Amino acid sequence: MNEQPPCLGLPGFLEPKDTSGWQVLPATIAAQALCRDSCPRDLFLDCARSALSAGNSVGDDQDRVADGVVMAGIVCRGDALTGKALRRVIKQYAETPANRPRHCLNCHKPMTTRRRKLLGHVIHESGGLCTRCRRAEQRSA
Ligand SMILES: [Zn+2]
Repeated sequence: MNEQPPCLGLPGFLEPKDTSGWQVLPATIAAQALCRDSCPRDLFLDCARSALSAGNSVGDDQDRVADGVVMAGIVCRGDALTGKALRRVIKQYAETPANRPRHCLNCHKPMTTRRRKLLGHVIHESGGLCTRCRRAEQRSA
């Protein structure tokens, strides 16, 4: 597998110099959405895991979280909250069965689980299809 992360070479992922309120800039919010919607699950998980120690410098005996960068959909600020948010997405993604695609195979809408409803996402029913597409398939069968 040789997948490229969709964020490669795009703006909005690095904190601009002398900008306050970086985390609420449209480019930053777009960057976060790209992570969540377009990044393949494995890359996303890798990204989140590496962000946990991305702030390390040589000789650190404790991991420092990333600072001034959007990673895994999180605006990383190098603080404890960043670490908490990263660990939360790692947990959430690690629990997702690998056979459930992040988008419905039929309607291609972003898909979530019944247990964890997200605004704008369809709910996974089975076989990689959302509830609506699965029902439509059953009707036509
Ligand atoms: Zn669907």
